[in-house]
Amino acid sequence: MTFEELNLTRPLLNALEDLGYVKPTTIQEKGFSVIMSGKDVVGIAQTGTGKTFAYLLPCLRQWAFSKEKNPQILILVPTRELVMQVVEEIQKLTKYMDVVVGGVYGGTNINTQKELVHKGLDVLVATPGRLIDLALSGVLKLKSIKKLVIDEVDEMLNLGFRPQLTHVMEYLPAKRQNLLFSATITDEVGGFIDSYFNNPVKIEAAPMGTPLENITQIGYRVPNFNTKVNLLEFLLTQDQEMKKVLVFTSTKESADLLYEKGCLLFPDQVGVIHSNKAQNHRFNSVRQFQNGTYRILIATDLVARGIDISEVTHVLNFDTPDVAENYIHRIGRTGRADKKGEARTFITEKEEKKIATIETLMKFKIKISPLPKEVKISDVLIEEEKPKIKMKIVEPKVRKKEETGGGAFHEKSDKNKKTNNKIHRAEALKIKYNKPKSARGKKR
Ligand code: AMP
Repeated sequence: MTFEELNLTRPLLNALEDLGYVKPTTIQEKGFSVIMSGKDVVGIAQTGTGKTFAYLLPCLRQWAFSKEKNPQILILVPTRELVMQVVEEIQKLTKYMDVVVGGVYGGTNINTQKELVHKGLDVLVATPGRLIDLALSGVLKLKSIKKLVIDEVDEMLNLGFRPQLTHVMEYLPAKRQNLLFSATITDEVGGFIDSYFNNPVKIEAAPMGTPLENITQIGYRVPNFNTKVNLLEFLLTQDQEMKKVLVFTSTKESADLLYEKGCLLFPDQVGVIHSNKAQNHRFNSVRQFQNGTYRILIATDLVARGIDISEVTHVLNFDTPDVAENYIHRIGRTGRADKKGEARTFITEKEEKKIATIETLMKFKIKISPLPKEVKISDVLIEEEKPKIKMKIVEPKVRKKEETGGGAFHEKSDKNKKTNNKIHRAEALKIKYNKPKSARGKKR
């Protein structure tokens, strides 16, 4: 099926042509007529399947110009990054239309956003918290909303937005079409749908937990962090196909540590993004990765969802994610919209268990490749890999009664006798090693 065969308007077709998109993806094809019918829809789709256009195309097809100043289409997303991204996608699609779109999200000045809303909007993209603040301020009126889209609802609930979401639902007019997209339908998502949706039609991009078929998945068994760094260096130096590489770590700390190493190995080619980085830094890093300034972007799972970075050639899981579903989200960053992609996962012994859970979820076994022989195996451990020294609690010797010189004239009653039972760490080390040592065992 081509876009021409869908019942789209000329301005939309022209915009799609400019983008170079010819064929609708599975979710776009499945979703179009159901959404056009006006029914409530639940779409099970990960990012990378074309889900954003799957709801935008029918919504914009049905949008009719009016003098109405209040938004008619409301799109709720979990993160600021996703607000920016969806706004951009709408702008691309409405290049030949007269649609005014705006995005609002928390963590920035609300007054500028009040002005934006006050000027009048047709489509509003928002994070739930900021939307409520704007509605409470009286500037934003939601009475004209005809279509509500909740994107990545699973992530929204994971982030604890349930109260805000419920609050938003109370503000909306009863007569409206509800569309919801989620990578997985957890019990919580199911409960939400039951409460607010009216006999929704389910559409699916790919069966749940199935890896996207056009992504090659390979695993390497690696003993520790520093060997992972060596492997990363080897792959990035050897493989010329690694042009746009997204590297995932599971913590901010290891993202920062890897970034330091990456800057030394590949100066000016590496960016880093995680939740401790300021908003501006996050936008800039993503932008520089997107436009090719950075070849490598190190990220935590914050960007595994939502952020549309096109044409990522490789996803490298430097660490295996703790939550199995995040693996699927991560690798979904490559192989987007039916392009080929590659995912490589670095697996330590400790991470094997997580891999097993991921494989069960995907019903797919990740092929293990031997570690290339050029990769140096390091035995230098980072702080958190070092075995923790267990301290023996050494009880202080209790002196025998005779040694104290026998019964004193005024014997203290037992409860009034104060003995210092604390044993200082330095002293304990002294006992353990039989010589004085500083607490960290470092020479000073
Ligand atoms: P999404 O799953 O919505 O995050 O979309 C993933 C990427 O695919 C985005 O960069 C879209 O612009 C792109 N895309 C969406 N629909 C199509 C299509 N029909 N053909 C090619 N690329 C598409």
